[in-house]
Amino acid sequence: MCLFCKIAAKQIPARILFEDADLLAFHDVNPVAPTHLLVIPKQHLTSLNDGQAEHAQMLGKLLLAASRAAALAGVAETGYRVVVNTGASAGQSVFHLHVHVLGGRSLAWPPG
Ligand code: 5GP
Ligand code: ZN
Repeated sequence: MCLFCKIAAKQIPARILFEDADLLAFHDVNPVAPTHLLVIPKQHLTSLNDGQAEHAQMLGKLLLAASRAAALAGVAETGYRVVVNTGASAGQSVFHLHVHVLGGRSLAWPPG
């Protein structure tokens, strides 16, 4: 099992914000912004590159959960960024699909 599969299975602890049958939202252990949450599907997909038509509903739920996480963290109105790093050049370091929700400070564009 990969790291995030173990977090989803509660074999590794995390500060969980919410979860349902299909996904889990939790705090990033090394936050790069005052609000830094991760939303993962409980199903293992290595990255967005693994997404197929059969995953459309789950991928939609992931985005809705990102917006719910932002609202619960209190950054929905001030603004937040949803990021899916895909592949090594984009900075992906955990190869289980995850959505970053970043907020609580002003975020530069373009990203580094
Ligand atoms: P990536 O670089 O793959 O886009 O993002 C992986 C994220 O997972 C990083 O922001 C990193 O801080 C976070 N992370 C890595 N290991 C753990 C962990 O054990 N627990 C939690 N909560 N976050 C982790
Ligand atoms: Zn996994």
